[in-house]
Amino acid sequence: MSRTVAIVGRPNVGKSRLFNRLAKKRISIVHDMPGVTRDVVTTEVKEGGYTLLDTGGLGLTGTDTPARITKASEEQVAFAIEAATVILFTIDAREGVTALDERIAQKLRKSKKQVLLVANKADSGKEKITDISEFHRLGFGEPFYISAEHGVGEAELRIAILAKLGPVPEETDLDKERLGIVFVGRPNVGKSSLSNRLLNSDRLIVSDLPGTTRDAVELDFEYKSREGKSWPFRLIDTAGIRPATKLASSVEYFSRLRSLEAIHHAHVVFMVVDAMEGITQQDQAIAGEIIKAAKPIVIVVNKWDLVHELFQKRLVEKFTTEREYREDYEKSLFQKLFFTPGAPVMFVSALTGHEITRMLKAARALNKRLDTKIPTAKLNAAIIRLADRTPPHSTFGVRFRIYYATQTGTRPFRIKIFCNQERSLTESYRRYLEAGLVKEFDLDGCPIHFDLIGKKKQSVADRLAAKGQRQNLAAGEEGEDFDPALIDD
Ligand code: GDP
Ligand code: GDP
Repeated sequence: MSRTVAIVGRPNVGKSRLFNRLAKKRISIVHDMPGVTRDVVTTEVKEGGYTLLDTGGLGLTGTDTPARITKASEEQVAFAIEAATVILFTIDAREGVTALDERIAQKLRKSKKQVLLVANKADSGKEKITDISEFHRLGFGEPFYISAEHGVGEAELRIAILAKLGPVPEETDLDKERLGIVFVGRPNVGKSSLSNRLLNSDRLIVSDLPGTTRDAVELDFEYKSREGKSWPFRLIDTAGIRPATKLASSVEYFSRLRSLEAIHHAHVVFMVVDAMEGITQQDQAIAGEIIKAAKPIVIVVNKWDLVHELFQKRLVEKFTTEREYREDYEKSLFQKLFFTPGAPVMFVSALTGHEITRMLKAARALNKRLDTKIPTAKLNAAIIRLADRTPPHSTFGVRFRIYYATQTGTRPFRIKIFCNQERSLTESYRRYLEAGLVKEFDLDGCPIHFDLIGKKKQSVADRLAAKGQRQNLAAGEEGEDFDPALIDD
């Protein structure tokens, strides 16, 4: 959730103008294009590298009563508190502080978020504004007096935003990082043979001392690519590769904590299956464990030499070519195992070394992809397109609705989705979104973890506060922001 700035404030204070000013854009699709209402509008601000959000469309329908406007504003603030690092609390410098402004201020103060108070429509600067002292009462110090319309005070505000965000974090150099791999699969598929193939390869330089290394839980080695480049790897769970420690069943395999731990330590998991035997129930159970760990998977179909031999000797009746067999195998594999979309499948042989280099290459490519950072505006545009193409069905009488999404992490890829109701997202729609995003952003084989944040129910304290305000209103104070009859529902 790094580097996100949200604009909040009651309607008409100029949020949308401010958004466009900071984004250096002319129009905002929410306000200026009739018929298009998007809950949250996002854009990337290049200068400073942050995502800017205009929350002004959230919770509004177009035909809104004052009470609905109040509710929507509060929803917008709650959203900004969850989603943003810095909040631009915008008020109207000429109208002064209203009851709704006070309410928003109270929520923001409680959140302890970084807030910049922005007094907009100060077209000729601060001097022309009569009662400046009331702005201080909101509790965010001296406001930034700006004119979103004319650009007054813009430079100072930009500097303040960047100061609050801090410096842009540096990218890590992936090539220097060791890629942690682990072979996982049921007994006898060839995990030990594959590990040994890597460790005994003449292209391999083992970093540790010989003799002791085979017992190590982790083993660092460099693999020399054909182009002479050195690829640093870390093979995890090498203790399990010795015949003496071999275990009888996959259940036993996974009852060993270390195997699961090994998966968690790896960057990429090689799921090994047998080319001759096809996919078994045990394979399915093991795949499930890896998926749970949200690790990217390279599917390794081992013992391809045996298949090759059968075709050489013309002993296969059902298929005429190796390729046909391979395609059929792949098809049934994806039918039986729900892997992350785009997971690479490699047909290899530990015995002959066939495609071993490609297998490592695939892991490296996958690892690189894992660090992809999707700009928030692009992510939201993609999600809107996906939802337009195939809208979610209603579950529990409610249609799942996404307000806004942002990437919150890599390894695993995490996307936070702000929505109306968490439980309305079905597993099949989750998979549809995952597959769509994987395709859109070239994330082949990278699992996506969605964190869902539904709309918060109003707390008891909030309701009481609303009631208190209602009484004040009934007594004739600042009546125009509220429709008291509609506050609690
Ligand atoms: P929002 O509802 O908070 O997004 O407000 P808008 O950005 O739609 O602006 C509401 C109205 O205020 C529009 O008519 C704008 O032209 C006007 N407005 C916005 N910023 C300024 C400003 O800096 N100065 C003046 N004079 N008017 C402004
Ligand atoms: P693990 O239990 O998954 O570690 O499997 P192993 O590496 O011990 O292999 C099980 C059996 O399969 C052994 O007899 C290996 O020699 C054999 N094997 C492993 N990989 C291959 C391969 O690529 N081709 C052939 N033909 N046999 C293999």
